[in-house]
Amino acid sequence: MEPGTEKNATSPATSQGPDGATQRPGCQCPADLRPLEPVAESDQEAIALAVARARQAQSEWGAMGLRERIRRVEQLTRRVLERRDEVLSIMVDESGRSRTECLMTEVAGIVEMGKSAARIAKKALAPERIPISRINYPGKKAWIEAVPRGVVGIIAPWNYPLGNFYKPLFPALYAGNGVVLKPSEHTPRTGAWLASVCEEILPAGLVGCVQGGGSVGAALLDAGIDAVVFTGSVATGKRVAAAAAERLIPCSAELGGKDAAIVLADCHFERTVAGVAQWAIHNAGHNCAAIERVLVEEAIADRFVAALGKLLEGLRVAPTENADLGPIQNAPQLALIERHVAEAIAEGATLVCGGERTGSGLGYRPTLLDHCTPSMRVWRDETFGPVIAVMRVAHAEDAIEAANRSEFGLNGSIWTRDLQRGAMLARRLEVGVALVNNHAVTGIMPELPWTGVKNTGFGVASSRHAYPTFVRRRALFVDSNKRPDPWWMPATEDLARLGETIVSFSLGSFASALSLPGLVGRRMKAIEANVREAISRAGGK
Ligand code: NAD
Repeated sequence: MEPGTEKNATSPATSQGPDGATQRPGCQCPADLRPLEPVAESDQEAIALAVARARQAQSEWGAMGLRERIRRVEQLTRRVLERRDEVLSIMVDESGRSRTECLMTEVAGIVEMGKSAARIAKKALAPERIPISRINYPGKKAWIEAVPRGVVGIIAPWNYPLGNFYKPLFPALYAGNGVVLKPSEHTPRTGAWLASVCEEILPAGLVGCVQGGGSVGAALLDAGIDAVVFTGSVATGKRVAAAAAERLIPCSAELGGKDAAIVLADCHFERTVAGVAQWAIHNAGHNCAAIERVLVEEAIADRFVAALGKLLEGLRVAPTENADLGPIQNAPQLALIERHVAEAIAEGATLVCGGERTGSGLGYRPTLLDHCTPSMRVWRDETFGPVIAVMRVAHAEDAIEAANRSEFGLNGSIWTRDLQRGAMLARRLEVGVALVNNHAVTGIMPELPWTGVKNTGFGVASSRHAYPTFVRRRALFVDSNKRPDPWWMPATEDLARLGETIVSFSLGSFASALSLPGLVGRRMKAIEANVREAISRAGGK
């Protein structure tokens, strides 16, 4: 199988639970397998209606000034916090994570994120006055303006069921668009809840929501949306990008990752152990920018692996009190993780810790594999679970080369005390986000582009560079001249002279510039005489 394609060749309508029973996605809490009320799938009519309502509401929203849109989005984010108990209990049910983890990762920072995104919107959406040569184009002014696309479809995965939405939702709304959300079939209720808060605060129908799996996502693309923001797996991303190309609509594709952290012998040891654990195991590794590969310099490898292993062993998996991480969100993902770990061990990796289920729901223990090799699937393909694969390297050069030998390129980090060398090495990583002494943290910073290379896709989430998905650019040109431009018809001999004079002037003959005003004047008179004659021949004055 091609690297990166193992997962989600098709979105299954059902999957096998850990007890072997067939499960509809999103119908059980992964922490304890208690059943959740199924969510009805949207039919074609409901999808068409969501797009039509968003389009209708968009005309009012798009005509509103940016300041008012920002005010309304701020109301929205404050309302999310006021109603947080509702969404937190939904997220706990759907993801099995603790309330504290859901609060900290996806809810608490929403107002501040909205404000930062608004500051960027003001710059990204401001009309730009374009300087135009007064000599070549007298009396003319030009601007570049941002025009909303119309209705933006946001198709999301299950790993951050709220955060994956509001990252594109804020710029889409600030830009003046309507939006239709398509949550993952594994976490349908969180997206529906967000749409319900939008319905309460924003114009009716401006943000709609459709439910279901891949066929509903595909139908949304068929329903006449004007742009699509897709976040998800590589296999689906390619299908969505092809469908968007077919319809000639902009598409942002933010896909999988297999991030590497390079740990150098001179790192701040304790901070690096804690930082690598955080960004590998946070959200049970269900993070596109999770550290999945660690390249550690041989000189500190034994000490580093031993300390990291002990740290991971001490982490608590939900549903226990103060859990550090949740369970695996769904059974197919758990099966994939177990496959990666089992194959790696069979191929010679050393299991330092974890490598087994907790025994509660879909819980899986944080896992550390040492002595991994590039041919192992756990090193090549996205695992998307609480699993760290370690490879020991002689020095930084080997580490950079091994890190770049990947189908993916989202985040990459260098851990060292030498910040200058760290930055130089980080620049050589083939990634969209290169870091020194941290990882993945910029995912919640609206100021910086969140983007990748290779199979991670071409999407840009966050920052002013995300705006091409949300707006088209319009050139506005205003001419205040009362007289014609000198190069208009008819083509008199003076037009040929004017051309030659422009050429001489461009080649540095400043003397030729002296003849320009006279030539231009004659040309304008000739054009005016010509048109006056035409008017009089037509019987006008
Ligand atoms: P997925 O591709 O299975 O599904 C993502 C979404 O696409 C779901 O809503 C799904 O219903 C929908 N979908 C499926 N087939 C479709 C089709 N043919 N047309 C339109 N929509 C369709 O991915 P997943 O398992 O939900 O998410 C995990 C993946 O997401 C991982 O690979 C992870 O790395 C990636 N991810 C990337 C980022 C990033 O910023 N790069 C962020 C979060 C997650």
